[in-house]
Amino acid sequence: MVQKIENMLRFITNKNLTECGQAFPTGCSLNNVAAHYTPNSGDETVLQYDDVMKLDFGTQMNGYIIDCAFTVAFNPIYDNLLKASKEATTEGVKQAGIDVRLGELGGVIGEILSSYEVEIKGKTHKIKAIKDLCGHTMERFKIHGGKSVPLYRDDSSETSNVKMEEGELYAIETFATTGSGHVHEKHPWSHYMKSPDAFNNVKIKAGQPKALFKYIDEHFSTMAFCPRWLEESGFTGIEKSLKYLCDKNFVEPYPPLADIEGCYTSQFEHSFMLKPTCKEIFTMDELIKEFDAVIEYSLSANK
Ligand code: ZN
Ligand code: ZN
Repeated sequence: MVQKIENMLRFITNKNLTECGQAFPTGCSLNNVAAHYTPNSGDETVLQYDDVMKLDFGTQMNGYIIDCAFTVAFNPIYDNLLKASKEATTEGVKQAGIDVRLGELGGVIGEILSSYEVEIKGKTHKIKAIKDLCGHTMERFKIHGGKSVPLYRDDSSETSNVKMEEGELYAIETFATTGSGHVHEKHPWSHYMKSPDAFNNVKIKAGQPKALFKYIDEHFSTMAFCPRWLEESGFTGIEKSLKYLCDKNFVEPYPPLADIEGCYTSQFEHSFMLKPTCKEIFTMDELIKEFDAVIEYSLSANK
């Protein structure tokens, strides 16, 4: 499934080195896993009727990234879980604007997420926000820019007074969960990124680690990649070399992030840019239809 999605993304972006193509591996995190899972080669997982899958994918042109996610569930018992994050993300995108405070926007999102309940197999769960995850600004070749959009009202000094600014590119993503509202890291790893402090002229062990790092640098720059993509281009037996690059901090892993075993999580995510007199939404079908791609908003209303 992921290979089919990625072949299509490659085709429609006319993939060419770091010029254009995918922005990160296609996430298809299942159930209690909220983010950063994509199959490694040999993964035999089969999607089931009762699974809740977060499909998270992105493209880039000249390093300018869009990041988008939605949740797929076949069993209607999860409807409210999906609705919670869909509504929270939609409202987050609607209320975003120049001078909006990130801590307050998080409050709006958090209130919507926690207003839902879902009944799964006879048990009623109060839905929570996953507080460890957040929306984010994006910079050129950089999926996570400097600012975060929390999923709860954050009055901490770092967030409460930080405002959205003209020219910024945002991905608002919200996560609903029937679990604890916190995530932990899991194995196996599948998402990696070149470390910002990995310099090309630093000495890397000759042989496969060196060739692998050169390939990563040329094809992904500081954007995320997965072992599948390295294997698709002919590298084999890369486990040891990848471990070496991580141990020496040339490359950083981004492990799958999961809430407690047995719970379910949902996610929706959309990207937009804050232009001087409007916000342009790049990924939101419903709003594109509703608002004709561009939502006009009053600057004074946001003060
Ligand atoms: Zn995403
Ligand atoms: Zn994102």
